[in-house]
Amino acid sequence: MTWRVVSMLRRLECVTRPVDGDFAAAMRRRWDDLPPHVKTPGQVLGRHGVGCEGTHGVFPKCNLACTPCYHSRDANQVRVDGGHTVANVEAQMALLRRVRGPRAHAQLIGGEVSLLDPDDHAAALAAMRQHGREPMSFTHGDVDYAYLRRLALGPDGKRRFDRLSFAAHFDMFMFGRRGIARPGDERSLNRYRAEFTAKLRRLRAETGVRTFAAHNMTVTPANLDQVADVVRDSSGMGFGMFSFQPAAFVGDSRRWHEDYRDVDSDAVWEQIERGVGTKLDYRIFEHGDVRCNRVAYGFWVGDRWFPVLDGADRRDLAVRDGFFRHLGAFDFAGTPVPQLAAQLTRVAVRRPQTVVLAVGWLVRAVRRVGIRRLARCRRVRITSYVMHRFMDAADVTTAWDLMQRGQSSDDPRIRETVERLSACHYAMAHPEDGTVVPACVQHSVLDPGENAQLRRLLPIVQVRTGGREDATTMERPTCE
Ligand code: SF4
Repeated sequence: MTWRVVSMLRRLECVTRPVDGDFAAAMRRRWDDLPPHVKTPGQVLGRHGVGCEGTHGVFPKCNLACTPCYHSRDANQVRVDGGHTVANVEAQMALLRRVRGPRAHAQLIGGEVSLLDPDDHAAALAAMRQHGREPMSFTHGDVDYAYLRRLALGPDGKRRFDRLSFAAHFDMFMFGRRGIARPGDERSLNRYRAEFTAKLRRLRAETGVRTFAAHNMTVTPANLDQVADVVRDSSGMGFGMFSFQPAAFVGDSRRWHEDYRDVDSDAVWEQIERGVGTKLDYRIFEHGDVRCNRVAYGFWVGDRWFPVLDGADRRDLAVRDGFFRHLGAFDFAGTPVPQLAAQLTRVAVRRPQTVVLAVGWLVRAVRRVGIRRLARCRRVRITSYVMHRFMDAADVTTAWDLMQRGQSSDDPRIRETVERLSACHYAMAHPEDGTVVPACVQHSVLDPGENAQLRRLLPIVQVRTGGREDATTMERPTCE
C-alpha cells in the first residue's frame, strides 16, 4: 500500500514537473548551434522551441495551378499514394525527433493534402503526433465538408483527434478553384475564405474536434496593394494566423510571371500594418533571422488589434525575458489543461516573481484595451501576423554549395543567403542520409531530383480527381 502511494506521488511529481529534460536539452543544443547574429533578446529558437518542420516528397501533386508555384516541374507527375505518404512521413518525423528533440510544430505539406484518402491523411497526422510533432495540414482550401468529417472521424464514427490544424492557401494566382477558376482579384476569394472556416466551425460543432486555421497568401507586385484589404476583410472569419509569403524565384520556372524582387519585406509588412490598423513590432519575438520571418502576436477586441507585449515598454520586455527563462520549456499547446495548471502552479510556488510579472502584465494589458471596450466586446480573438520570405533558388544553390565546403562569400546577396540558411527556422528531414536541411534548400536544390525520382516510382495513371478537371492541365498559356 505504502509502495503504491509512493509510486503514485512519484508519477504525480513527474507529470507536473515544469521542465521536460529532453526538450530542455534539445533547446540548449538549438541555441548553441545558432549563429551569433540571431542570438537576440527576442530570439524564440532555443528558448521556446526548436523551430518549424515540414514534410517533403510525400504527396507532391496538387490539383490547382499557382503562378508562382514553389514545386519543381515533375511534382504534378507523381501519383498520390497513401502507403508511400505514411511510410515517408513516419521516417521523416522519426529522424526529426532524433535530431531536433521530442517536440515541435510540423507541417504536413507537399502538393494538396486533401488528394490523400482521409484515412491516409489521418494516419500521417497520427504518425506525426506519435513522434511529438504538432501537425498542421496544408491545403488550398477547396475541400468538401464530407472530406473533413471523414478525416476527423474514423470508419467507426469515433473521433480520431482532439484537434486538427490547417493552413489554407488563398490568393488570386491559384487557378482551378471550384466556382472561381480564375480569380480576378483577392476580394473575389473572400467568399471561399469564409466558406472554408465555416466548414471548420461546423466540424467542431458536429464532431467536437477543435480546429485551428491559418491563412496563407503569396504576395507579388500584382496583389501587394490588396494585402491590407485581405487582412481587413478576413479578420473576423476565424483564422488565428495570417501568413504572407513574398514570392521568390523558386520551383517551376514555367510559372514565373513577374519580377518578384520588386516586392520587398518592408513593403509587404507595411501593407499588413495598414490592414491591421497599427504598427506591428516584429522584434519582440524573432524566429530565426528576421530577413526570413517576421511575426507579431496579438489579439483583436472588437475592431482594434492589440499586441500581446508592447515593445516600447520595458516592463513588457521583462515579461518576455521571464517567460523565456521560466516557461520557455513548457508545452502550452500539447499539454492537457489540468496538467498545465499543475505545472504552472509549481513554477509560481517556486518562483513567486513570475506571478508578479504575470499580474503586472495583465493589469497593463487590460488598461491598454480599456475596461469599457472589454465589457462591450467581451470576445477576444487571438490573431498573429506572419511574413515568411523564401529565397531565390539560384542564390540558395550557390550559398548551399559554399556552406557544404565551410565557406561564405564576399557577394552581399550570397552572404545574406548563407547567414539566413544558417539560422533557418524551417527544417526538412532526409532519413536516407540522416540529414536535416532548410526548406529553402529542399525546394531550391533537392526537390527537382527528388521529384524526378518519385515520378518514376509513382507514375500517374490518370489526371482526373473526384470528377473535376485537374487544374494543372489548365495553366495560363504563358506558362510554358
Ligand atoms: S532559410 Fe529559407 S526556409 Fe529557412 S527560414 Fe529562411 S526563408 Fe524560411
